Amino acid sequence: MSTNHPHSHDYAFETLAIHAGQEADPQTGAVVTPIYQVSTYKQDGVGGLRGGYEYSRSANPTRTALEQNLAALDGGRRGLAFASGLAAEDCLLRTVTKPGDHIVIPNDAYGGTFRLFSKVLSRWGVEWSVADTQHPEAVRAAVRPNTKVIWVETPSNPLLGITDIAAVAHVAKESGSLLVVDNTFASPYLQQPLGLGADVVVYSTTKYMGGHSDVVGGALVTDDATLGEELAYHQNAMGAVAGPFDAWLVMRGIKTLGVRMDRHSENAARVAAFLAEHPKVSHVLYPGLPSHAGHDVAVKQMKAFGGMVSFRHKDGEQAAVEVCNRATLFTLGESLGGVESLIEHPGRMTHASAAGSALEVPADLVRLSVGIESVDDLLADLSEALR
Ligand SMILES: *Cc1c(COP(=O)(O)O)cnc(C)c1O
Repeated sequence: MSTNHPHSHDYAFETLAIHAGQEADPQTGAVVTPIYQVSTYKQDGVGGLRGGYEYSRSANPTRTALEQNLAALDGGRRGLAFASGLAAEDCLLRTVTKPGDHIVIPNDAYGGTFRLFSKVLSRWGVEWSVADTQHPEAVRAAVRPNTKVIWVETPSNPLLGITDIAAVAHVAKESGSLLVVDNTFASPYLQQPLGLGADVVVYSTTKYMGGHSDVVGGALVTDDATLGEELAYHQNAMGAVAGPFDAWLVMRGIKTLGVRMDRHSENAARVAAFLAEHPKVSHVLYPGLPSHAGHDVAVKQMKAFGGMVSFRHKDGEQAAVEVCNRATLFTLGESLGGVESLIEHPGRMTHASAAGSALEVPADLVRLSVGIESVDDLLADLSEALR
């Protein structure tokens, strides 16, 4: 079933996740899209391409299947798969900006995204400034005449801040800038930014989309056909494409995205409730808690609240580091979104590159990626680590 199937819009998310872009193989009937581990394609006479394939940087059938699937899941016209989330971001930003343009970035974001703005693109004369995107008025105040992009990450990494996508989309429309939403934490199962007015959705497919901590990948989805063409042109011109096996792994992960996100969300809600009652914990950051500043917006724009929970340790940085070291079932490691639970200290690990900037994270912060193990085992491990 390809995404241009006349009835594809009739299918629900869970059905699209398994079928969109993935016809049975025409030659063999293979139910799963094969891994086309190939660089070049025989032409039937010069320029006689079969199915449009000539060279796998430009297009590869396994990647095409994933790209059509990604587009269907976000309700966009175009999906593009990259070698990593940061490769996707870099392609997007170099497609839509030029020297002298300005980008509004959030005051809480993935550390690598911030590094891309602050250390790489800034050298090519792309200006940036920081706004607290949880307040749409603050975004409006940060917009300049040369603002090309407003960048939002919601829920944000690692503070789980919530930005009202529809409200910021309004600011973007007014100012003639593009709204980009990094939807990595929510996944398209929990949140549909294009439907709320975003122009482009960004993913690290390394996380929930892949879901098994076995692949690094990234994606862009847009409903704007012209922008989609420009992005595809730059994807080929810059070359950071997803390889066939990586594309296949992400597609395999996506088939179970819905059931995994339901279980991640259920387990994370239990973990957040446990931490909220714990004497060693000063703050729990989880948008599913009614006490969370963004709870009402999260209820409005998310189907459930996802698997990421952060908390602050009452006894400070060293105590937070020790909790990370003592946990056993929660594996100490970077990344997130896999079936197995992970724990980390953002200040010294994932967000070390934001130290000294407006995006610096609290030193007593611990971030959990709550997996889909038995929640009782997870709670017992946290209880022991916090003792
Ligand atoms: C991991 C991550 C990225 C970067 O993706 P890579 O696949 O590691 O390049 C971007 N945004 C968010 C929110 C992330 O968690």
